[in-house]
Amino acid sequence: MSLDDLYQEVILDHFRKPRCQGCLSAPDAAATLFNPLCGDQINLTVKSADNSIQAIAFAGHGCSISQASASMMAHLCQGKTLDEGRALIASFKQMMRGEKQGDDLPELGDAAALQGVRRFSARVKCAMLCWEALEKCITSLAVEKSPEK
Ligand code: ZN
Repeated sequence: MSLDDLYQEVILDHFRKPRCQGCLSAPDAAATLFNPLCGDQINLTVKSADNSIQAIAFAGHGCSISQASASMMAHLCQGKTLDEGRALIASFKQMMRGEKQGDDLPELGDAAALQGVRRFSARVKCAMLCWEALEKCITSLAVEKSPEK
């Protein structure tokens, strides 16, 4: 089995058996993003306490890349601090821009399997959609938690 085949298996596994799927009630942050180029939609809900992502869930529809990426991202970021979440977003972007190989980003876990997507520029937006939703959620949580000026 080649590395590409292995990565393909990981992506399909997340697409068929998505982790962290659903909608959290009374979330502390939420974001819904669309990718009109492909028709993907991701709705992300996050529960947060102590500057951490306590719980995270996604709902949506679209291509296998967009949904698998959301499953990987949510599974990976659950329980992480907001800073760790930001760092993971940055790592994923570096991988998508081709600045780093997925193999050099062990912190990305299963999401490293998406590195091949960058060869297909139209699909990068599919893979990035859920990470952009997470970025929005973390930004809104950080604003909420910052002390009054
Ligand atoms: Zn897509």
